[in-house]
Amino acid sequence: MLDPVNILLVTVLSSIMSLAILGSLRPAAIPGVSRWIGAYVWASVALVLTGMQRLGVPFITILVSNTLLAMAVTRVLEGCREFFGLRPRAPLAWAGCALVAAGSAWWCWAQPSLGARIALVSAFHASIYAVVGWMALRYRPPGRPVYSYRFVTTSAWLGGCAHGLRGVVYGAGLVEQTTLLAATPLNVVWLALGILVLPSLSIGMVLLAHDRMAERLERLANRDELTGALTRRAFLAQALALLDTARAKGTPVVLAIVDIDHFKGINDHYGHAAGDRALAHFGRVVATGVRESDLFGRLGGEEFALLLPAISREDAVVRLDALRVAALAVRRGGDTPLQGQESLPAHLSQEETAPHAGLTFSAGVDILQIGDTLANLMARADAALYEAKTRGRDRVVTA
Ligand code: GH3
Ligand code: MG
Ligand code: MG
Repeated sequence: MLDPVNILLVTVLSSIMSLAILGSLRPAAIPGVSRWIGAYVWASVALVLTGMQRLGVPFITILVSNTLLAMAVTRVLEGCREFFGLRPRAPLAWAGCALVAAGSAWWCWAQPSLGARIALVSAFHASIYAVVGWMALRYRPPGRPVYSYRFVTTSAWLGGCAHGLRGVVYGAGLVEQTTLLAATPLNVVWLALGILVLPSLSIGMVLLAHDRMAERLERLANRDELTGALTRRAFLAQALALLDTARAKGTPVVLAIVDIDHFKGINDHYGHAAGDRALAHFGRVVATGVRESDLFGRLGGEEFALLLPAISREDAVVRLDALRVAALAVRRGGDTPLQGQESLPAHLSQEETAPHAGLTFSAGVDILQIGDTLANLMARADAALYEAKTRGRDRVVTA
């Protein structure tokens, strides 16, 4: 049973099962999955070829199989890059594949050395797995549960360590071995660890793909498509939880209610689609200005709420003023008036809004008091917003 050929066979079978699961995820069009599927097809073929060593056709069982397996893990890496939103191409890894091919040929025919071959191939695999594990650690989208990402890191790094160690031991000539699939205990353990990283990584990829699908569903349920803000329902639910935490910890929380000024005018003058674009711009501006701990929700229409934990009321005002400046800048020179409406409406006239002719908003701000409910806090911020509007808009007013 512990014959390395059997281990290879088990790995091939589990790779094929991984393919079936990854294949089922294909219709979800998750970035990287197609590359991972390709990788596992190549890996399965490469492992079958590797297992046929005893047939004595080194061109296929050594050169082709080593190169194909190197290409397969390169494809895994590229799939990961694509999944994490990076440019998928990994030219350095492809150069490594070429090196694996050249080295395998050299140490097979020109200067036969099993040790050198194993060292080279292991070093290549160790490097790729090290990078894959690091990527899962580094590029986990903020706020996502860590489990699947840690799983990928752990399996990739365990596999990387096994390959690395194997490479060092064979490279240094610490082990004498004449055939790759010799059934010595050490060889069996290393082969198993090194090869089994493939099926365990594929489980990790399936977990990643599932996490991405869960993220999409959560987004659909909780996010406003146009602005990226939380929906009113999600905002209120998360705000209540945030207030509970803040009360328990005794940390301050500031609420701001924000309403875009003269938004009806933007719609009337530039059209509803331009109004939508302005809302999307506003959403992007706020997104770049909030911390991960802040809540940003769309209460309805062009009215939004920001819940900022662990901040003083004065600092919150400073941050809202910065957003106000950023929102103006984004819209500068933006949408052109509809046909037949060459002049701006009175409230957006050059004199009044020059030099920006941009998007302004008013905000009402207050801080959570002892014994406050979310409803109380919102009512006070709303009153402050009303005052900002009556005082001439484009300003932040505290309650
Ligand atoms: P004020 O400065 O007093 O806030 O004036 P306003 O024009 O912004 O306020 P009002 O509440 O009268 O107008 C809000 C407008 O926002 C009315 C509505 O048609 C528009 N609106 C609400 N939701 C959307 C949307 O999703 N897209 C677009 N384009 N317009 C929207
Ligand atoms: Mg408004
Ligand atoms: Mg409004």
